[in-house]
Amino acid sequence: MARAIELSERTSLVESAGGAFGAVIVRDGKIIGEGANRVVAENDPTWHGEMAAIRNACKAEGSFKLRDATLYTSAEPCPMCMAASYWAGIKAVFYAATIGDALEYGNFDDSMIYGEIKKPLTERSIPIKQILRAEAVEVWKKYKEKTDRVQY
Ligand SMILES: [Zn+2]
Repeated sequence: MARAIELSERTSLVESAGGAFGAVIVRDGKIIGEGANRVVAENDPTWHGEMAAIRNACKAEGSFKLRDATLYTSAEPCPMCMAASYWAGIKAVFYAATIGDALEYGNFDDSMIYGEIKKPLTERSIPIKQILRAEAVEVWKKYKEKTDRVQY
């Protein structure tokens, strides 16, 4: 966690690359990936510390799963990073600062997203509508039958 906080300090205060968010992925007591928020520097709204750490750890491990790995993040993960942790198969998450701290000191507010996720599709602020389902399902049917597809 000390390394995650160090990364958060560097990216926000030294490099001015993004918010004060740093993260590391650990397995068997060894850091296998680390990352920091670089949303501003990269003009990438998804470049969160946890996303970068997961991406780097997966690349280093040559796998899209990080089984038995632990995420240490300098601040409580946002919904995107928490979802990525599930996708990556992270076994545990430790965080330092809270969502409330990120709001108070950095004006980072995830509450709108948590609220949106709970709403039915028709009530969300970004309109979401279904089109061309039959065409998309044709691909899914072929994918189901594909004998060499990678199992998740
Ligand atoms: Zn995030």
